[in-house]
Amino acid sequence: MRIAVVGGGPAGLYFAALWKGRHPRDDVRLFEQNRADATFGFGVVFSDRALDFLRENGLVHRIESRNAFVACVHHHAGSDPVVFLICERCGTVGEATGSAVTDVLKASCRSAGFVPKSPVIEIAGICSHCRA
Ligand SMILES: Cc1cc2nc3c(=O)[nH]c(=O)nc-3n(C[C@H](O)[C@H](O)[C@H](O)COP(=O)(O)OP(=O)(O)OC[C@H]3O[C@@H](n4cnc5c(N)ncnc54)[C@H](O)[C@@H]3O)c2cc1C
Ligand SMILES: [Zn+2]
Ligand SMILES: [Zn+2]
Repeated sequence: MRIAVVGGGPAGLYFAALWKGRHPRDDVRLFEQNRADATFGFGVVFSDRALDFLRENGLVHRIESRNAFVACVHHHAGSDPVVFLICERCGTVGEATGSAVTDVLKASCRSAGFVPKSPVIEIAGICSHCRA
């Protein structure tokens, strides 16, 4: 499918990221009338209520070490464990997907009778792009 998104505000950026994440083969183009860096993009300050809503629905994750949030396109429950791969050079944040790691984490929490609230693991390192 070919999709044109008009407007690089938060709504357009988030829609484009979500769609591309779920349909990687689709051609998604985003058009912004203003020059690059002229818009706030995600630079708006969300209220705590807005952020709580996004977090509870697994749509954003908080990266504690950076005091920042990232949009999540992986379509999982808000309570699922998340493993971040954070590049120390370029700052790119990837999310390790695949259930192998998270299944182990969930099982060990369960066996300890522990209910994790913000199960996030951050792994710092160098991304494949910076290593090349
Ligand atoms: C002064 C001010 C302060 C604010 N402070 C906050 C805050 O602290 N926290 C908060 O959560 N919200 C704040 N808001 C609200 C926030 O900015 C909006 O809720 C948010 O920007 C809406 O996002 P959007 O993507 O729907 O629209 P927009 O951010 O308006 O994005 C629409 C984009 O589409 C582009 N566009 C429009 N027509 C075309 C076209 N024909 N071709 C190409 N591009 C086009 C525009 O240039 C624009 O970049 C503030 C708003 C204002 C005005
Ligand atoms: Zn996620
Ligand atoms: Zn990097």
